[in-house]
Amino acid sequence: MASLGIPQNTIEILKKYNIKFQKRFGQNFLIDTHVLDKIIDAAGVSSNDFVLEIGPGIGTLTQYLCENAREVMAVEIDSSLIPVLSETLSGYNNVTVVNEDILKIDIKKIAEERNGGKAIKVVANLPYYITTPVIMGLLESHVPLENITVMVQREVAQRMQAQPGTKDYGALSLAVQYYSDAEIVANVPANCFIPRPGVGSAVIRLRCHSKPCVNADDENFMFRIIRASFNQRRKTLQNGLANDSSLGVNKEQAADALKQMGLKETVRGETLSLGQFAEFSNILGSIKL
Ligand code: SAM
Repeated sequence: MASLGIPQNTIEILKKYNIKFQKRFGQNFLIDTHVLDKIIDAAGVSSNDFVLEIGPGIGTLTQYLCENAREVMAVEIDSSLIPVLSETLSGYNNVTVVNEDILKIDIKKIAEERNGGKAIKVVANLPYYITTPVIMGLLESHVPLENITVMVQREVAQRMQAQPGTKDYGALSLAVQYYSDAEIVANVPANCFIPRPGVGSAVIRLRCHSKPCVNADDENFMFRIIRASFNQRRKTLQNGLANDSSLGVNKEQAADALKQMGLKETVRGETLSLGQFAEFSNILGSIKL
């Protein structure tokens, strides 16, 4: 089967199967060979790898993955695309297509069964409506992961790799960076897709840590502190936390923890690094007892 990275070949398949793009499934198919090569390169896909692809669509990126990986599993929710994939992937014997919702799949079990429990790679041109649940689900699930290399909405990519004190920095940046090193590897204009998405896109690679890069005594408590401090971005950190009664932290305790860290009482959450949030929540946890 000819490469679908070449627009003419994609158009032929779209016509042959009379494919109507399903907006509700976030269907924007890639038609740019440079971008496809870039994704494979950034993920470092090689003949040892088991790769999970989310949303193969008509199989464009899947073809590139099959050329480079040992084994590919591609999970597609839209059953009308399954016969199309049978044709476009017919030249490969190292791919399994699964007609399912990625959010309902036990990925840990797949990694165990197909890759002997060793770290897998996840590669996708993601349907943007499920970007956060997919990425956070993967990172929090303790699936053994080497890297996640995905096309996402550009603003979301910027939020994932944002550093303290910038406008994009927030709870998503901290959650992603707790589990991985995030790096935008390409900005991708709308004309690389059919149909063109209404937003800019970027490829981001998350190199997953085998263990988190900071020590939080209670991960869950740290993330509740982080969320509370960004829910009230304009407020000082101590006021933001005191206003959230579910945390059980008062203003004096927050002030005490900040003092122990040598930080000003007027500090805002958006200036704290991940390491500082871990330290802050560890101190608060011990004061609260
Ligand atoms: N990989 C193809 C490409 O790059 O041309 C298609 C990417 S398109 C942006 C997203 C794909 O994800 C679509 O084929 C869509 O049907 C599929 N999809 C949407 N929601 C899904 C879900 N919950 N689980 C699995 N696949 C999903």
